[in-house]
Amino acid sequence: MAKALLEDNIYDYIICGGGMSGLSLAYQLSISKISDKKILIIDPERKTKNDRTWAFWEKIDNPFDKILFKKWEKVKIVDSHKLEKTYELGEYRYKLLRGIDFYDFVNAHLNNFPNIVFCLDKVEAITENIDNVEVTTESKQKFTAPYVFDSTFKLNLESKKHHNLLQHFKGLVIETKENLFEEDIPEMMNFGIPQKDAECRFMYVLPFTKNKAIFEFTVFSEKLLSEKEYDQSLFEYIEKDLKLTDYKILEEEFGVIPMSDIETEDIVSNRIIRIGTAGGATNPATGYTFSNTQKKLKKIVRTLEKDLNDFEKESFWQKRHLLYASTLLNVIQENRHSMAEVFDQLFAKNPISLVFKFLDGETTFWEELKIMWSTPKEKFAMAFFVVIFKKLKNAFL
Ligand SMILES: Cc1cc2nc3c(=O)[nH]c(=O)nc-3n(C[C@H](O)[C@H](O)[C@H](O)COP(=O)(O)OP(=O)(O)OC[C@H]3O[C@@H](n4cnc5c(N)ncnc54)[C@H](O)[C@@H]3O)c2cc1C
Repeated sequence: MAKALLEDNIYDYIICGGGMSGLSLAYQLSISKISDKKILIIDPERKTKNDRTWAFWEKIDNPFDKILFKKWEKVKIVDSHKLEKTYELGEYRYKLLRGIDFYDFVNAHLNNFPNIVFCLDKVEAITENIDNVEVTTESKQKFTAPYVFDSTFKLNLESKKHHNLLQHFKGLVIETKENLFEEDIPEMMNFGIPQKDAECRFMYVLPFTKNKAIFEFTVFSEKLLSEKEYDQSLFEYIEKDLKLTDYKILEEEFGVIPMSDIETEDIVSNRIIRIGTAGGATNPATGYTFSNTQKKLKKIVRTLEKDLNDFEKESFWQKRHLLYASTLLNVIQENRHSMAEVFDQLFAKNPISLVFKFLDGETTFWEELKIMWSTPKEKFAMAFFVVIFKKLKNAFL
């Protein structure tokens, strides 16, 4: 049975959006020292469908490790010349979490907390006052709290001043009659598929069992493809490259993740904090969001536990990783070099753990120079200067 809203509509924390980041924050708060705070989650829907599957790498365990669908110690990468290499991940693990397992687990857990309630409504406005924040919903309900965490803010992806690409993908969960998949080695990226113009295209195959796997055709580009083009690439790979004929399609997935270098303001004020994709947790160069969101939320919860509101902002120096991501986006957008070849060189010339560390924004400057040295230097240097020029122009004009 749904828990009743508080009569005075006053909460300690309001979470706008009950998707991945909103539910993760509620969960992390519920297992923290401040688990008794009054929390309201506003979303027009409760998640009950397997609408996405998260794949991500991590060195550490996260609170959702117990519900992982799969966890791998090695991955395979196939370069643009179809050369395969299996990498041991060392301290890292490549993890797979199904949306439905996450939603079911978190919702069941939160049901045990009478102080955490849901409101099925749409957030219409978030207004900051002197000592609180007011959230107004579509049905004109008003709620207040000293802190609001917002995952509903939409980026303006039309801005011509920035690089705005899309990571778009179609996936099929396939079951074969015979045991054909190496269950303990996912194909994390396969660039040995036909590439097109400035786009970066790759396939990935994550085996669930020996005869069940998800095949995902992924593109980095400015525009979406037609439905036929996603299917064509998927079936060409499955039927021509792998020569699979006897298989059943169990599920389909389609998704679009923004690859944008618009600077997202996550700490809007001492009272309004954006989280998830809205809070800049999506890596603009890869689309990975899940593990970065967990890390950012952990820091927020630690600050709240100390009864503080000086939420940690990224320093100018830490933001250099966004500059690298912008550079990569510029290389793709301006078709400066084949991205498949860039990734070939990145993985061939660096330990995979260093590539992960770099993409997580955790490398030292010297490690970053090593990574940069392994890319087509002139093309990236040109892209880097264009990015700096654009940023200066945006700042001063
Ligand atoms: C199909 C798919 C697959 C993905 N796979 C991966 C992956 O493998 N690895 C990875 O790291 N990332 C992946 N991502 C990217 C990212 O992890 C997800 O998009 C993730 O769900 C982002 O979390 P979020 O909380 O920012 O947004 P969501 O999870 O989308 O949550 C936002 C919530 O806000 C609600 N909402 C929207 N507007 C309002 C409003 N006005 N009022 C109230 N509520 C509102 C929505 O209903 C939704 O529940 C994937 C994304 C998609 C779409």
